[in-house]
Amino acid sequence: MIYRIGYYNISSSSDGPMARPGSVNRAFVMARFYFEQDISFLFPYINAVAKESELHERPCLVRFVHKGVYCVVYPEKCIASPFNGHGEVRIFVEDLVGFLNEILEKKEEITPKFKVFQHVSVTDIITLLPKTNCGECGFKTCMAFAAMLSRQQTLPSLCPFIGRPMTEQVTYPVVNEIGQKISSVTLHVDTRESSALGRVGSVPEVLPSFVQMNPKTRVSKNSTLALATLPDPLTPREIQVLALMGEGKTNPEISDGLCISPHTVKSHVVHIFNKLGVNHRTQAVVWAARHGII
Ligand code: SF4
Repeated sequence: MIYRIGYYNISSSSDGPMARPGSVNRAFVMARFYFEQDISFLFPYINAVAKESELHERPCLVRFVHKGVYCVVYPEKCIASPFNGHGEVRIFVEDLVGFLNEILEKKEEITPKFKVFQHVSVTDIITLLPKTNCGECGFKTCMAFAAMLSRQQTLPSLCPFIGRPMTEQVTYPVVNEIGQKISSVTLHVDTRESSALGRVGSVPEVLPSFVQMNPKTRVSKNSTLALATLPDPLTPREIQVLALMGEGKTNPEISDGLCISPHTVKSHVVHIFNKLGVNHRTQAVVWAARHGII
């Protein structure tokens, strides 16, 4: 059990590889230091609260921005950049470790976010765009927009020509010249991280199909965020089943109401339990009610 995160061996070098967004290319100071213990257990909590956070599995790390500095935290070390000079490093490291200790102290109050960063290639995304470079998204070219979207640093909805997602998984159809679907591209954009960039003021259109496909449910922006932060999001059908469970319907009644077999209902219920980490209908309904989903 760790009560306090300690660190040692701070070093800095003048060949920082990371530059601030929009900055001209020049060398920046990069810092490196080590933790006294393995802090990987804290990664989902850091992922939940840090700005522009990305949780990676291989290699195991969490990447985020702290006070304008990119930080890459591994289980036993941290690399941070850019700094304008070596003198800034020690003060920053103390502040960053203080931030991590604050997360450690408030761990019980934070809902951990296990969602792993999903990279989508620029090539895949560019197939969705008209490549007119019209600039309406705020980027000079479609390629620049695609590059930022692939890094989850902008939102699909900023391009008015990208089309509508065809499922709740935010999967876009890729069509050929005569309109036939030839493949698809699935995007995973974290709503909280993207809104933290300040480019848009509203919850993006990441999960609108939940609302469209479930008129009986009252899915709000907050509930959309709750759904988006589940490690394995609920499908629209599962939300419908959950809503009917909230009305006190039994499995046979849900089966009649949705015109699906009792076996399918049972399967949806099991999936809901697994996704929410509960083992009782009441717990599932309470979770949904707490998050404004039903
Ligand atoms: S708005 Fe869409 S089409 Fe226009 S430049 Fe941006 S990505 Fe390209």
